[in-house]
Amino acid sequence: MFEQNLSNILGQLEQDGLKRELRDTQSAQGSRIQFEGREVLNFCSNNYLGLANDSRLGQSIVESIQTEGFGSAASRLVCGNMPSHCALEEWMAKFKGTEASLMYSSGYMANVGIISSLFGKDDIIFSDRLNHASIIDGIRLSGATLKRYRHLDMEHLEQLLESTSGLRHRCIITDSVFSMDGDVAPLDKIVELSGHYDCQVMIDEAHAFGVMGDLGQGCAHHFGVQDRIDIQMGTFSKAAGSFGAYVCTTKLIRDFLVNRSRSFIYTTGLPPLIAAASLKAGKIIEEDQSLRNKLWDNTYYMRAGLRLAGFDTLRSSTPIIPVLIPDSQVCVEFSKRLFDQGILVSAIRPPTVPKGTSRLRLTVMAPHTKTDLDLTLNRFQSIGKELGVI
Ligand SMILES: *Cc1c(COP(=O)(O)O)cnc(C)c1O
Repeated sequence: MFEQNLSNILGQLEQDGLKRELRDTQSAQGSRIQFEGREVLNFCSNNYLGLANDSRLGQSIVESIQTEGFGSAASRLVCGNMPSHCALEEWMAKFKGTEASLMYSSGYMANVGIISSLFGKDDIIFSDRLNHASIIDGIRLSGATLKRYRHLDMEHLEQLLESTSGLRHRCIITDSVFSMDGDVAPLDKIVELSGHYDCQVMIDEAHAFGVMGDLGQGCAHHFGVQDRIDIQMGTFSKAAGSFGAYVCTTKLIRDFLVNRSRSFIYTTGLPPLIAAASLKAGKIIEEDQSLRNKLWDNTYYMRAGLRLAGFDTLRSSTPIIPVLIPDSQVCVEFSKRLFDQGILVSAIRPPTVPKGTSRLRLTVMAPHTKTDLDLTLNRFQSIGKELGVI
């Protein structure tokens, strides 16, 4: 009965062409990878700066393992709080200009643990409709009332702020760079509204850390509003090429999270060598402007080329470039044809994105060469014509 039910659900997914399977990458990450038995140009990863296979990160791991070993053997609150964890947190707070910083084992755990501990059933959370699943799950777990506003729609957000008053606290939570659309939350407007309506602001910089801001600090710095955002969360798993997550905030909030955030407390500390690799990545991000310059040159080049060819890239203004192909079957066929020609681009369909907005989702990387990009643009144009997309 139980298994029959699971099997029915999977069967339905299969019938709808929505069943998902794991596919194999057989090389280290990079702009070219070995995928399902062939070499492809990679436009799928979040490894924006190419740091996921950088030997400098490897070197810092080797140095850490010699003194700190591998596992951290306990929750950080017991005896698993090791030198590399502390060094990373100290450095992050300085880099972001906040009083304090705290690491989590992943971005997912960070959002769930931060939101569910800081907010409760007497609170209201205003959340962009396209926020990441981990934010939604954190809100659900918190028991707070969820008010979703239309994507990037500040008028709608203001209406909701005006028409509600929390029994206790209110908080606006938003991705800073949106993972499926590659557009950016208007943080300048958001902090204005939070000031006017007296509520907290939390942002998720997963796709912004290492990418946005003069030194890669993220969107808060890009807008110059870092001092007006209460909770800046982000990950080391994307542009930093490592793993784990951070929250940069006040000493008080950090102290509260250490005492109350269940996904921080009831889990083993990350292996310290991961923190050592993240710290190295952070320093490279801060010091090596050339990587970020290359990423942005490639981004502008790719997006301009796609637009010129007649593709709709929505409101993307970051290295995440969606190419709208509303018909999901055509979208999947487009992705298949690209793969046959050695180019890996994922087709994103409902329910990951709203109905009628299927898309190819490209992510540009610093290590892509002009030749890589030209080849890809060329293939996009020919397949786009074959399939009647342009
Ligand atoms: C990837 C992502 C996360 C989750 O981070 P992990 O470290 O992969 O768990 C959270 N929020 C956003 C917006 C993301 O894109």
